Amino acid sequence: MSKRHEKHRERAGQLSNMGKYLARRAGSCCELCLHCSVALSPWEVPPLQAEPDPDRTIFVCDICRQQLEQPKKIDVNHWHCLHKSVWSKVPAVQVIGVAMLHKLKDEDWAQELLEQLYLEPEVSEWVEQALAEAWS
Ligand SMILES: [Zn+2]
Repeated sequence: MSKRHEKHRERAGQLSNMGKYLARRAGSCCELCLHCSVALSPWEVPPLQAEPDPDRTIFVCDICRQQLEQPKKIDVNHWHCLHKSVWSKVPAVQVIGVAMLHKLKDEDWAQELLEQLYLEPEVSEWVEQALAEAWS
């Protein structure tokens, strides 16, 4: 196993330890698309910290995760869920929601939603950092 792979596994272990906390926060529904009764897993919002931090991690379903990880696979229709989740009280969810809206900016509704949002300065800053990372 390569070193990088090993590190990845170690981190995955740390992340799965947060599962309970995240499940409670998420109410067992995907924090982005709000689907319940689906398999959820932690996804770290970039930029990655030295240690995984639950407050910088979101709990998402496989569909959301796949599209976060492979922007080429983004299915615009899936992301209408952002109308709700972008108002999340969890900053990490809001950050990824807003970052996604930036990726969908060609859509009128995404553009409108971006214009409606008021973001705390630290959230805006985090969005910029997240967008600056190629997170695929
Ligand atoms: Zn989802």
